[in-house]
Amino acid sequence: MQPKKCDLIIKGSYVLTQNDERELIEDGAIAVSGSLISAVGKRSEIEVEWVAEETVDCGKSVILPGLMNAHTHVPMTLMRGVADDLPLLDWLHNYMFPIESGLTKELVELGARLGCAEMIASGTTAIFDGYMYEDAVGKAVDGSGMKAVLGEGFFKFPSPFFKTAQEAWNAIEALQERFADHDRIRTSVTPHAVFTTDPEQLAESMELAEKLDILWQIHAAESVPETKLTLETFGKRPVQILKDYGLLTKRTRLHHCVDVTDEEIDWIRDAGAMIAHNPQSNLKLGSGICPLTKFLEAGVNAGLGTDGAASNNNLDMFDEMRTAAMLQKGFLQDPEAMPAQTVLDMATVCGASFLGFEDTGSLKAGLKADIVAIDMDKMHSKPVYNPLSHVIYSAGGQDVCLTVCDGQVLYRNGEFLTVDVEIISREAEKAVKWALKRLESR
Ligand SMILES: [Zn+2]
Repeated sequence: MQPKKCDLIIKGSYVLTQNDERELIEDGAIAVSGSLISAVGKRSEIEVEWVAEETVDCGKSVILPGLMNAHTHVPMTLMRGVADDLPLLDWLHNYMFPIESGLTKELVELGARLGCAEMIASGTTAIFDGYMYEDAVGKAVDGSGMKAVLGEGFFKFPSPFFKTAQEAWNAIEALQERFADHDRIRTSVTPHAVFTTDPEQLAESMELAEKLDILWQIHAAESVPETKLTLETFGKRPVQILKDYGLLTKRTRLHHCVDVTDEEIDWIRDAGAMIAHNPQSNLKLGSGICPLTKFLEAGVNAGLGTDGAASNNNLDMFDEMRTAAMLQKGFLQDPEAMPAQTVLDMATVCGASFLGFEDTGSLKAGLKADIVAIDMDKMHSKPVYNPLSHVIYSAGGQDVCLTVCDGQVLYRNGEFLTVDVEIISREAEKAVKWALKRLESR
């Protein structure tokens, strides 16, 4: 039998398929044609059945699906390290908002290009973003070859970005129109949080999400002080407001959900809404610990996110996976509370559902070829009993040796193929002066 033609074959010591059986293939290979996976199997079988234009042998390695960052503000890389060791509301109102109110489209694009480069090099292929000037983020994502759900953020009107609600709705519609036919980029309606908007605005914004048939995302119940503020302002807890205004729906994506009651978890589950877990950001801002196991036991789909680089302070999903696993074990004093497999699911298959990209998240024929490999020929990866264990407990983003998104190689052995990291690094250093000036003029 003649072998079939494909564009790319990727080989490695192990393939963590994340398919329905969570199959692990030893000495595995993946055949890729165009943007899709054609076949996944044993190296010996793939080599007989397929002939490729290009073959990438990753050597001693683990191949896994591209990681899905369920919550980030990618341009915030420019604010990495500008204000640390502060509580959420102080950090937000006295540092982030004053800097952000002076943002330009050019700066947002620069921060997004920096963030995309960082994520490509650490194995992330898709992000759920929320920020201002998201068309500039879309431009950066498009150029990088990654995929994204963009979200043009808004606060109470007037804001430095939108004087009226209508202006915000127009911007969201324009963003949706601009990327409507894009293969890798989608959009969402993105109110910042319950305490920085008002319920009527939120209800109106959900109507817009329904009209455009796109996802609706919000920061929700991130910390106890947020709940206190929301209670003082509206007389209700954040998730209660979401429920009362019809904002818990199948298209709802809630970021954080740290300060929630058991009853609120049930409401979220009953509505078919999903949550993004952001353990490092929650820890760094002292926001608390999300009752993640309760959400999962209730049957809520959860993705995993880094949040922005100003509250993390990196966008490394391997780092985030490790923290997610460790945190619940320590918090609940139960080492079985958050197994490695559950954490990898959050960062891959469950993350893909969270982002609404149903054609990715695992390595199966017919799905999008979003594939990463980590180099296992490192001292901290030896010996190998269980590759999954290394992915969660001993690997880091710096071990990534290959990143492929929609069949396109974006990064290979330290080389960036879609972004110019020298220019990005130089320009990012210049942004320091701008940010410090914004803080001086508070
Ligand atoms: Zn956030």
